[in-house]
Amino acid sequence: MVVKLDTSPLKEWRGYNGRPFLISGPCSAETEDQVLETARQLASLKKISVFRSGIWKPRTRPNSFEGVGYEGLKWLKRVKEETGLLVGTEVANEKHVYEALKYGIDMLWIGARTSVNPFTVQEISNALNGVDVMVLVKNPVNPDLELWIGAIERIAKAGIKRLGAIHRGFSAYEKTSYRNQPNWQLPIELRRRIPDLPLICDPSHISGTREFIHEISQKALDLNYDGLMIESHIDPDNALSDSQQQITPGELNELLSRLILRNPSPTDPRLLDVLGELRQQIDIFDDHLIDLIEQRMKVAETIGRYKKENNITILQSMRWDEIVKRVMIKGKTKGLSPEMVDTIFKAIHQESINHQMRIMNNGIIKE
Ligand code: PEP
Ligand code: MN
Repeated sequence: MVVKLDTSPLKEWRGYNGRPFLISGPCSAETEDQVLETARQLASLKKISVFRSGIWKPRTRPNSFEGVGYEGLKWLKRVKEETGLLVGTEVANEKHVYEALKYGIDMLWIGARTSVNPFTVQEISNALNGVDVMVLVKNPVNPDLELWIGAIERIAKAGIKRLGAIHRGFSAYEKTSYRNQPNWQLPIELRRRIPDLPLICDPSHISGTREFIHEISQKALDLNYDGLMIESHIDPDNALSDSQQQITPGELNELLSRLILRNPSPTDPRLLDVLGELRQQIDIFDDHLIDLIEQRMKVAETIGRYKKENNITILQSMRWDEIVKRVMIKGKTKGLSPEMVDTIFKAIHQESINHQMRIMNNGIIKE
């Protein structure tokens, strides 16, 4: 199924005067005062479209704060009445959906630990059938684009038109400076596959600490995301969940004022001319890259034939190690990131092995 969206409601996604659509609020609703005070301060910024707050919290370990539950829906309703902000919360089963709708919640989001499970997403989709509410689907915790698209398709099938995706990063075993790996290529590919789907970045959950929220937000805007969801709290250090990554509404205001908004679709013909010319150069280099890889594979195939005749294994670990070291050093002198050089050469090496395998197993490759 191809997700088919009615693009007319997309206009409202552009927030204030073509600026990004902003969602903010605490990770969790803790007390009525905390919720209302955060909302009042956010509303006074006049930049936020949706006030977010988790009511039911999916925590990694038991005995952590698991949310205030249904009680919190009343507080969100008050936020809406007092501040005029739209309100949103996370839903993880059909009961959550029914309760949230009963309290007039405007936006529901499906969390990363829920979008990973097709049974649960289908249950939520059934509960949403025929309802007009805004729904945002977070990426699943694992970097599986098909699973993310599958969850979006299930919700689209319920007839939800105001549908969007939230990129919140992916879990990884290795510890890096970010709490969750951004894997930007996944949301970029999502955008290529479903161009009309609004895409929101959640820099708070990618970052895991305050210090990276700005750089991730700027990157998302430079990649032409439609909006940002940033966690905010009146007293972040004492928050009951995600305390390290929350910022005060004042800090949020300061962060937003430092973000640079660039033009996603220039119309000035002179600018387009220059861009067109540069893009032609990029296309020429891409063609060169393909030709070079083809030539490299031909040499690898000759080596494969030689290995076959002399009964040598395909993988010569020392040689591979030598190649990696050589290209890493060379890449560094050219200002290329070691991650990129590593990824590209692993892929090229695998392709060489595949070509040589075909030769070993009786040469399906044409001479
Ligand atoms: C959240 O938004 O507070 C949350 C629990 O997010 P995620 O599903 O991305 O972990
Ligand atoms: Mn959180």
